[in-house]
Amino acid sequence: MVSRLNGSSRSRSVRPPSEVESRRLPKPEARVAPPPRDTFEPARAVRTNGPDAPNDTSRVRPTKPEVVSRPTDNFNARPPGQDIDTIVLHHTADGDDKSSLETLTGQSDNLLGQAYLWAKEQIKGEVSAHYTIGKDGTIYQHVDDEMRAWHAGVGSLRGDGADVNDRSIGIEIVNEGDGQDAYTEAQYRALEQLVPYLASEHGVPLENVVGHKETNPNKVDPSPNFDFDRILDATRRVL
Ligand SMILES: [Zn+2]
Repeated sequence: MVSRLNGSSRSRSVRPPSEVESRRLPKPEARVAPPPRDTFEPARAVRTNGPDAPNDTSRVRPTKPEVVSRPTDNFNARPPGQDIDTIVLHHTADGDDKSSLETLTGQSDNLLGQAYLWAKEQIKGEVSAHYTIGKDGTIYQHVDDEMRAWHAGVGSLRGDGADVNDRSIGIEIVNEGDGQDAYTEAQYRALEQLVPYLASEHGVPLENVVGHKETNPNKVDPSPNFDFDRILDATRRVL
């Protein structure tokens, strides 16, 4: 009985199913026809900035890298209608992140640091920058891009007479500035993200990405062991 039923059901279901199936989910071509996944891989690659990326990646707009907020009161408004058209790189002349940040924000969490800052400000005045790049590549932001930070002092770009702080974004790189203290790979990588982003965001031309020493002959920063070309090359790719 059982075997008969099995036999009859098998005999019924062996042939017709193959016909039904061939009608229902036939088209084995349909499963092949849609482009296989690897067809899409090159499309993803097009959107990267890797060395194999085609030329049109220059139009990819860089996104702002992650920043750590370390605000300061040392800023004021830019002149009305003032465009941002310059980026100025500095070294802090201080190889320590903590004291560099204290100087650039005018804030310390202890009395000794506060006293030191007060004395320093009596001599050099209050200073700030928009960003500081720590030794480990952390990007600290002190002042909003749209506001005027106090990093460039006297001087002007190519002697044109215009105030540098009015028009620029200032980036400090934590470094002794003695030509011996090495800029870290993490700092270069942070700058290779931040500077192209800022140049693209504000429409800063490549020739206006400069060192402090280019706006003031009395300044020496960033020191000669800083590989400025790395930053310019990264920026050139997005402009
Ligand atoms: Zn400087």
